[in-house]
Amino acid sequence: MTISWATYSYDGHVVVVTGAGSGIGRAIAVAFLEQGATVCLLGRSQEALRDTIARFPAKRTFAVPADVTVQAEVDSAVQSILDRFGRIDVVVNNAGLSEPSVIDDFDHQAWDRMRSVNLDGFIHVARAAVPMLEATGGNLIAISSVAGLGGDWGQFAYNATKGGVNTMVQSLALDLGGRGIRVNAIAPGFIATRQTQSRLDDADFSNALMNRVPMNRAGVPEDVARLALYLASPDAGYITGAIIPVDGGTTASTGTPRPLRPIHYQ
Ligand code: NAD
Repeated sequence: MTISWATYSYDGHVVVVTGAGSGIGRAIAVAFLEQGATVCLLGRSQEALRDTIARFPAKRTFAVPADVTVQAEVDSAVQSILDRFGRIDVVVNNAGLSEPSVIDDFDHQAWDRMRSVNLDGFIHVARAAVPMLEATGGNLIAISSVAGLGGDWGQFAYNATKGGVNTMVQSLALDLGGRGIRVNAIAPGFIATRQTQSRLDDADFSNALMNRVPMNRAGVPEDVARLALYLASPDAGYITGAIIPVDGGTTASTGTPRPLRPIHYQ
């Protein structure tokens, strides 16, 4: 079974995915590989990247070691992709980091870590990718978060970085639209990955979470990957500057708790 119900024509298209050795990035890389794309995976662990691509043809895969917090590493990764494939059609900036934060006991090092991956990393990747995407009429997708659309308990610093990603996507869509480049964000809600598994395993947290999710389940990385396939395709050719939640309906709520019993009006 492939990740997507739909069939896309990504043969000959070169897709770059950052942080592709686990979770959402891995599912996105696999989804594009299943649809015929050539996929270049950027990440810090070569071993994890190799696991992602193990069952796909070597000629359509390229695992490139790079830390997105370092512009020079991103630039040299992009150059090696160009040397090998000669083009880049789609860039998915997925690498990200989430840590708790409380204002009374603020950890500046945690802020630096999150800012440098979530915001600086996105800037580095976008900066390196734009000339390539201009050449192909390609597009850029950022994996932001619903955490960039509002507040969350105990993670204001992460929320700030993801809010920054969302507004950066909107501004870049304006700046780059005239050059033929689309820029969009996917804002996942609560998705089961290694970043979230320990909280999902906590029954109290899990029950409280389900109160907020109309679809009655946590998301899975494949839920996000399906939207990436669509957004990157010509079917989304008139969509740019969009921030699209994949959250099972979580952000549709104003925050009023779900009723414990069915509501009946006389
Ligand atoms: P994950 O930890 O499995 O994936 C993050 C990936 O980014 C990892 O592979 C990691 O190695 C990579 N990465 C981190 N720092 C890096 C760096 N400096 N250079 C290169 N790669 C780096 O977690 P995930 O849940 O799959 O997260 C993927 C993205 O989705 C992140 O941007 C995260 O903020 C976002 N997100 C996740 C959720 C969720 O509920 N899991 C919700 C909303 C948004």
